[in-house]
Amino acid sequence: MVKQRLIIDCHCHGGKGDGLTGPWDTNAALDKYLQRAARVGIDRTVVFSAFHSDYQYANRVVARIVKSRPNRLFGFAFIHPHRDRGRVQRLASEAVLQHGFLGLKVHRHDARITREICEVARNMALPILYDVTGEISAVRLLGQEYPEVPFIIPHLGSFADDWRAQQAFIDHLSRFPNIFTDTSGVRRFDLLEEAVERAGAHKILFGSDGPWLHPGVELSKVYALRLAREEEQLILGKNFIRIIRSLRHRPKMRKRIMKAGRQQATQRFRDPWQGQHAPRL
Ligand SMILES: [Zn+2]
Repeated sequence: MVKQRLIIDCHCHGGKGDGLTGPWDTNAALDKYLQRAARVGIDRTVVFSAFHSDYQYANRVVARIVKSRPNRLFGFAFIHPHRDRGRVQRLASEAVLQHGFLGLKVHRHDARITREICEVARNMALPILYDVTGEISAVRLLGQEYPEVPFIIPHLGSFADDWRAQQAFIDHLSRFPNIFTDTSGVRRFDLLEEAVERAGAHKILFGSDGPWLHPGVELSKVYALRLAREEEQLILGKNFIRIIRSLRHRPKMRKRIMKAGRQQATQRFRDPWQGQHAPRL
């Protein structure tokens, strides 16, 4: 039986980091997360690495995790703007063609996002989840320069609850069609309400920032918005599906991905929804 409502957590970490600063670069074990997520009815989760000094390696670890639960997890490839300079195309091709990943993840804590990354995402029709860590001015540039690339800017632009940054971010979220956000880690609930009112529910995705934040606690914020059913469903999963599908259905997309993959072009491109019960949109 096809479930009416599909809940997709668009933001979760998995695998081990090779640092020793805190959980974010040390360990993102998913055992507890998966139990907690199952308890509150989360159907799918987008997983990417913790902070790591070698994202090619870390992405391969995430790929193994995703492959162990193919009907439960999706993968995004973490990219370091500086350390991976010159090899972004290669990393993204491996991620999409070999691992079946659906997007890229970049964190300002590593370095500022680069044109190289944005252009690879544009050419391969991939969304980018980019944590700007409060550097909101970057969002305007991404909206202006790469309108074809969907950017999910998590935490309303600031995990650190920087009210000024989050306030300013909502302007960009309202203004640029390719700018989205997720609900993960947002504590100032009034700002989340304001984002829905001003930018619209179609610009906001449910995310938990698991396994370090509890997906049930994060999910309860979406319900607390008390939205109409259709709007709530956009946030819970439909927006994510729409982003992925709009890219997948772009003309010449498959050809471009194959071209980008070059020698890997003969490998099968994985349709994330093949044989699965994604709701009709
Ligand atoms: Zn995160």
